[in-house]
Amino acid sequence: MFAARFNLFTLLGFRVVIDVTWFFLAFYLVVTLASRYFPGVVPHQNSYMYVVMGIAGAAGLFLSIVLHEMAHAYTARRFDLPVGDITLFIFGGVAEIRQEPQTPRAEFWVALMGPVASVGLAALFYALMVESGPAHPAASGVFSFLALANTMLALFNLAPAFPLDGGRILRSLIWWRTGNLRRATRISAAGGSVFGAFLVVTGLLQLVNGNMMGGTWLLLIGLFVAAAASQARGITNAAENLRGVRVDDLMERNPVTVAPDLTVERLVRDTIYPQNRKFVVVTEASRAFGFIGPEQIRRVPESQWSETYVRAITEPFTFGTVVSPTATAFEALRKLQANSCRHLAVLEGTTLLGTVSETDFLNYVTLREELALPKKVAAREPATSER
Ligand SMILES: [Zn+2]
Repeated sequence: MFAARFNLFTLLGFRVVIDVTWFFLAFYLVVTLASRYFPGVVPHQNSYMYVVMGIAGAAGLFLSIVLHEMAHAYTARRFDLPVGDITLFIFGGVAEIRQEPQTPRAEFWVALMGPVASVGLAALFYALMVESGPAHPAASGVFSFLALANTMLALFNLAPAFPLDGGRILRSLIWWRTGNLRRATRISAAGGSVFGAFLVVTGLLQLVNGNMMGGTWLLLIGLFVAAAASQARGITNAAENLRGVRVDDLMERNPVTVAPDLTVERLVRDTIYPQNRKFVVVTEASRAFGFIGPEQIRRVPESQWSETYVRAITEPFTFGTVVSPTATAFEALRKLQANSCRHLAVLEGTTLLGTVSETDFLNYVTLREELALPKKVAAREPATSER
């Protein structure tokens, strides 16, 4: 989804990135605000003024979304969770928190602070609207739109539907009360499915009524929420089947490694294609320090493959891309779902023991079923809590 991105600026140490799909949303917003919304709420302005108001409204909304995501990112960092970029895309924004919160308390606060920021912004824009008053109708109109938009943003995100903020708050509360993350995820993901379906139906009704852009957008966002909810449920169900399984039970033990002084051309020609591997680990003097996946290769144009070295495109390992051989399969699965390359390196110190992908999980579960082996039941884990 994040194919082409542009770095915008860095604030409080967080990089803000725009995905190309965001320009569709920005364009649609400016056109709708300038041609329909503002002429309705602030009449008797010239069309030039409406365009300026449209741009100001879209820019203000963009800033509001950045601040909402910034509040999540900042709170996550306070709880020592690794945070990546803040990306703006067609459905709004997302702060890439590379690790799931380890406690209900962390999940609660990280999720809550986004809507809190939006409510604060709504109050601020409302005050600005009152301040600018009837003397400056254009400015007042833009501020009233931004107060309304931030209120809607807070309300929408507070829907008790995982993975929206409200769903995460609900999950953290159930998790806190019951100590059972799996059950909490199942309940809040059910909320996500219902809310996703509701948005899809609303979008379809809008389409029937001739609102093509708005209807399509609602439809897509509904599908997006429903898909994320079903993925969360999938992880929870997999966790049931994987109880007691450790990473070294199912990892791929013959990982492909390459040296950093290889060219990208030879990497693709001699390793990626013949071995049909999407994920290679870069090692030097038997020390594993990073990896290369499709995303890293795509960053270099094919014409430059012969003069670019593996070292230059190696992605250094982070907490979210490595896992210990003794970690639970559930922990590995959660990390896998959160990272974009869909592989983890299994490391002991800096020594590479293997790799794990979703395919390894599938193979493991399938094999146990085909051999008619019972599910592994753990003595090392209590039944109601996985950590
Ligand atoms: Zn949020």
